[in-house]
Amino acid sequence: MASKVYDLLLSRGRIIDPLNQRDGVADLGIVGGKVVEVGEELPVDRAAQTVAVDGRLVLPGLIDPHVHLSYWFGCQAGYRMLARAGITTAVDAAGPPDEIIRGLRERGAGINVATHNVVWPGRFVPSTDPSKSDIDRFIENSLRGGAIALKLLGGHFPLTAEATARVIEQAASAGVFVTFHVGTTRTPGDLNGFFEAVELAGGRRLHVAHMNAYCRGQLSGEPLADAVQALDVLQRSPNITSDSYVFSRNGTPALCTDGVPVSRVTRNWLVEGGYEATESGLTQAILDGFAWVIAERDSENVFVQGEEGYAAWREAGTDTGVSFEANPYTSMIPLAIAKDSKGDFIVTALCTDGGGIPRNALVEKGLGLVRLGALTIQEFVQKASIAPAHLYGFNDKGHLGPGADADVTVLDPLHGVATHTIVEGRIVMEGGRVLGRGGTLLVTTAGVKEARAGGVEYQVIA
Ligand SMILES: [Zn+2]
Repeated sequence: MASKVYDLLLSRGRIIDPLNQRDGVADLGIVGGKVVEVGEELPVDRAAQTVAVDGRLVLPGLIDPHVHLSYWFGCQAGYRMLARAGITTAVDAAGPPDEIIRGLRERGAGINVATHNVVWPGRFVPSTDPSKSDIDRFIENSLRGGAIALKLLGGHFPLTAEATARVIEQAASAGVFVTFHVGTTRTPGDLNGFFEAVELAGGRRLHVAHMNAYCRGQLSGEPLADAVQALDVLQRSPNITSDSYVFSRNGTPALCTDGVPVSRVTRNWLVEGGYEATESGLTQAILDGFAWVIAERDSENVFVQGEEGYAAWREAGTDTGVSFEANPYTSMIPLAIAKDSKGDFIVTALCTDGGGIPRNALVEKGLGLVRLGALTIQEFVQKASIAPAHLYGFNDKGHLGPGADADVTVLDPLHGVATHTIVEGRIVMEGGRVLGRGGTLLVTTAGVKEARAGGVEYQVIA
């Protein structure tokens, strides 16, 4: 008998790999966690394992550039939810990295994870106006802790405008990626906050999170008019990259201290709904069904409301997430599909802001846009795999040529769902059943020691 050539062979799927100009039915051969061969009629008898994927779409593994997996936000069930949703690599948008390492170890589902570390005033930096040396220390600690990027959470926990500009500048000179949920102590996290963010970046590289969250009609009265303004500014700002999601509910911390929600976003939504911006206001909003509480049921998170929501929130000691019906489709869809005159997407990537927040709808909404004719399937791959891989420097991801990481998402186009999530050649989800455990932390060289100490697998990114 001939020796086995492939560890895993995916046979007869429609492989969609825009970076290698491939779209057609072929077999994909995997050895040692890497793609080694793509072609017609690869020898099935020489594969240790073959999965027949006739009629399915075989895509470079989907990368969700904005999710939440931390314990403090009640999102540790997210690993499993992401694997089930067809995501092979996810980037946590807040951290802190020690919680993500712990989560990978305790709750991991076999997917790759990288994380930001949030510049949280009063917790990880001394105040809303951290000094230059506070910020340098924070950057160093973040990378050493295992983060690959910094998160400015201005909408929730704003810094002064001056300190925000310092973080962007110091991170840029250290070559560290910064993501900004816009807003400062002087400007709310709306479209004005976005305009301010562009100004504070001063031409330096900056990634702006969830553009849709600033286009809810607060500025012009019309979500669509907000989106048009946002797209116009993005087109004139080549230093700014961005992402957006397509889902009606937002997600924000429900944590209260001294009788008040810690997050400005949560307080604003309570006021919006006619409630007091206090713990008792949030209690009433949950009981009334205005705020949905994120709670774990059967190892995954779901939205619950009313008495059940209230009980779940109290049980978590208020430290979970809540969601409001915040996002209008009239701005979300244009933001997801708009292109510039050269034919490039204006908003760089699609995300979900999901993970432990139960809205991991990248495949569902992405294929929905494809069915609508608003995106081609190749464009969906661009926004949900190629672009996020490029953003974060995941150089061996985003394509399926020989030498690429064997991260693959297999989709059933008829039902619009992922049927297989394959990470480094291992099947971590099949037919809705999550099989993977643990997972790989993507780190910089500075984070290797902490990843090792945390007992997780790791991979150093360029
Ligand atoms: Zn988020």
